[in-house]
Amino acid sequence: MRVAWTFQEDVWALRLRLDADEGLAGTVTDGHPVELATDTCHVRLPGRGGVTASSAAAFGGSRAPAGPDSVHPDLLALAAWTVAAPWTRRRVVFDRPISPELAAAFESGWGIEAGPVGGSPPRAAGDRLAISYSGGADSAAVAAMLPGASLVHFRRVGHPRVPNRWTHYRSDVLAALAEKTGRDVTIVESDLEFLLRSPRPGYPEHHAVMAGAVLLADAMDLGGVALGYEIGSRWLGGGRYVHRYTPDNPMWSGHGPWGRLFAAAGLPLVLPVAGISEAMTMRVALGSELRDQVRWCLRGDGAGPCGLCGKCLYKELIQAAVERRPMRTAITADRPVARKWQQPPPYGGQEMIEYGCAHVPDIEDTPFARAAGYLKATPESTAWLERCYPPAVEEIPARWRGAIADIMERDFGFMEADDIERVESWGGR
Ligand SMILES: [Zn+2]
Repeated sequence: MRVAWTFQEDVWALRLRLDADEGLAGTVTDGHPVELATDTCHVRLPGRGGVTASSAAAFGGSRAPAGPDSVHPDLLALAAWTVAAPWTRRRVVFDRPISPELAAAFESGWGIEAGPVGGSPPRAAGDRLAISYSGGADSAAVAAMLPGASLVHFRRVGHPRVPNRWTHYRSDVLAALAEKTGRDVTIVESDLEFLLRSPRPGYPEHHAVMAGAVLLADAMDLGGVALGYEIGSRWLGGGRYVHRYTPDNPMWSGHGPWGRLFAAAGLPLVLPVAGISEAMTMRVALGSELRDQVRWCLRGDGAGPCGLCGKCLYKELIQAAVERRPMRTAITADRPVARKWQQPPPYGGQEMIEYGCAHVPDIEDTPFARAAGYLKATPESTAWLERCYPPAVEEIPARWRGAIADIMERDFGFMEADDIERVESWGGR
């Protein structure tokens, strides 16, 4: 794999060139197959003409960010790798020399020979923390807990060479909601999701959502990027994994290949809510001043979420459980989006299905009636999902750990041995 960045008028363009032994079929770190559609993508940073009032503050009030000479080569390599990794077999050649430390992280994490290796020292971490902010409940919870952190929002835009058949995904609505938070918000626009022919437009690696934050890290003096991954995604095999304890999660563990690579670039991953469940991040987000800007559905318009998609159904279960009220949904058990809940477990995000079935009144009148029958969850059997898993806090870089630990202790309390055993035996030993 060869990658090259060019910069023009606030836009970074990335070009991938496959080696002879590489093909269009790739594999994401989580094992999911992906197929390449095209060889270029773009990341637009807020420039001289596009700096909003709030993002101007992030750059010290006036300075335009991140021209080609102001970004450490290790950051350019890191951002490129979040896009190129699925298709790279044995080596990656960047267009600028990287530090020996970064090359060592590629070697130890992936067995990939990365270069050229030059004499530049590794990047020194900055002082500030940015939050990779989607507008969903998890990242809103992180934002609520860290009121001084800047928000960087990734906005999907169209690709010049790939038709957009997903116009019902309203990235404009999410960006507008992010700007309404009243926080220090930087909107980064990118077409990198259109690099994928399949499964659909999506991030080549989950980490590509941070491409803009990585490219802005020097301009914004960043020493870490915080993400809203909760206990299910970090520790319980969430996302495309199902139902298994994942202390060595290769995407998000501090000691995994990605965790070490980001740290080597002076930009460690920070997961402030990795010790608590999605129900608790929902509780924090909906109890915060960001409540009116929280939006987990990409399909709804300015008036609200669509209420019809599978994600809306899942999130409504969690919200109803948090609020201890019956579900409000028009979706019935015979709808395609409800089909998986008519099957026996295991389920993706099963801990939240258990929590929902345990706490939602009249669950037998919802599309989750059959799942509830299979799972037989109770408030007692799901009480561990209201407390914090201590190793998640230990994994937070030391400079931000104390503040997060205080919030976890105050608002949730830490799990004791029985609860910890539930986490660590999740899905069977
Ligand atoms: Zn929806």
